[in-house]
Amino acid sequence: MQKGKIDIFYGPCWCDEGKGKIVDSALYKRGQEGNQYKAVVRFQGGPNAGHTLYRAGVKCVLHQIPSAVFYPDVLLVSSSGVVIDPILYVSEVAEIQENFSIDVAPRLRISHRAKLISPLAPLLDRAEESRRTGVRGDTNKVGTTGKGIGVAYASDRARTGMRLGDILAPDFMEKFETLFAFEKMHLAFHVEKFAYEYNEEEIAIRKQKWLEAIEVMRAYMIGDVEHEVRTILREGGDVLAEGAQGSMLDIDHGDYPYVTSSSTLPQEILLSLGVGPEYIGERIAIMKWYNTKVGGGAFPSRMDAELEKKFQEAGGEFGATTGRPRMCGWLDLAVLRYVFDLSSPTKVVVTKADICAVDEVGIATGYTEYADGSFPYALADVQDVAVEKMPGWPGWNPKESPELPPALRAYLERLEAFFQTCDSKPLLYAVSIGPEHEDMYYWKN
Ligand code: GDP
Repeated sequence: MQKGKIDIFYGPCWCDEGKGKIVDSALYKRGQEGNQYKAVVRFQGGPNAGHTLYRAGVKCVLHQIPSAVFYPDVLLVSSSGVVIDPILYVSEVAEIQENFSIDVAPRLRISHRAKLISPLAPLLDRAEESRRTGVRGDTNKVGTTGKGIGVAYASDRARTGMRLGDILAPDFMEKFETLFAFEKMHLAFHVEKFAYEYNEEEIAIRKQKWLEAIEVMRAYMIGDVEHEVRTILREGGDVLAEGAQGSMLDIDHGDYPYVTSSSTLPQEILLSLGVGPEYIGERIAIMKWYNTKVGGGAFPSRMDAELEKKFQEAGGEFGATTGRPRMCGWLDLAVLRYVFDLSSPTKVVVTKADICAVDEVGIATGYTEYADGSFPYALADVQDVAVEKMPGWPGWNPKESPELPPALRAYLERLEAFFQTCDSKPLLYAVSIGPEHEDMYYWKN
């Protein structure tokens, strides 16, 4: 029997490329073709991600649960590489039930190796960010979402943290109280040394809510879900892996320290799920035709303020998790070439093609000082960015005229020509033309 494959959907830029919507569209298409994925796996990150789906105009923002909530036969897997905030996880399950009358609980599969975000981790995250601000000034902030993600990953690596499997063990409360006391000490250090302020009552309430959420989570399927997924693959079922943050936020290869605390590249699925490379299927890079970025660090292809405002308004470029306005820039081919070298995509999906509020658009074609194709150690070192201008396609409404306008076609053909110069020569596969799962234009199959 032929074994199944894992198709990996990931963002090659910073974030907010529309991964959730594209995963939703891919599931919809496969369902119609009668060969649905058996599971969708979140393999890195935590509630710092925010994938937005729509059903009949109703918004569904998923922070921790995989973007397959609308497909009743698909398992919703969190593998070992993710960090989970139990309070937010449980409330997300309840929100899906309330807004869409879908009970996802029976389909949840949470690895016992996934990491827990402790009740104090978000406070420590904010304390650390405030210390960095004090020491190096506001512009040097990492720009974390304040959800405790980095703290949870750090304590896991230091082997002081807790994993989901711990909540099923008899000594759970002992372990919990030890970690809690340890983190409280750490917080006291921030108070003493850096005048960090927090509210004791807030902590007591959070601790209580966290423990209540743990009680709810005990009823979910927590265990060796990696084994379950390996069995699916062995028996010929296909699996979809869903990246949370973009590749430029990768802890090792991104613009450190303005990165997230996990590996965001597609190959991370192998380690997170515990499978060998033989199971890797398509690597599908999902990117907007322009770029956006939140958080700290340099953004070489950033637009001027007036254009940026137009893109923020037309594209609704405000963070799904934080509400922060996203910086907007032209698509950056230096970043893409670098990330494609790191990740070998087989296909590319371009999103938000319906959003173009300007007569002339740009593509950043390279960094002048890095003409040899090397990539800067720090993006802040980039001094000069070459930008090619092309006609825009303002006013196009795909609902009224479904054919792609000539200027958009020309832009996409320019991208295809660029892809041909990259090692993995990915296929421009589809173009997303709206937020609903059916709003897709299949360029090449
Ligand atoms: P993700 O984290 O990569 O899933 O991206 P987000 O959900 O943070 O941001 C993407 C936003 O763009 C969401 O509000 C999506 O509904 C929306 N979106 C995705 N694709 C398209 C598209 O092709 N056109 C439009 N207009 N919106 C889109």
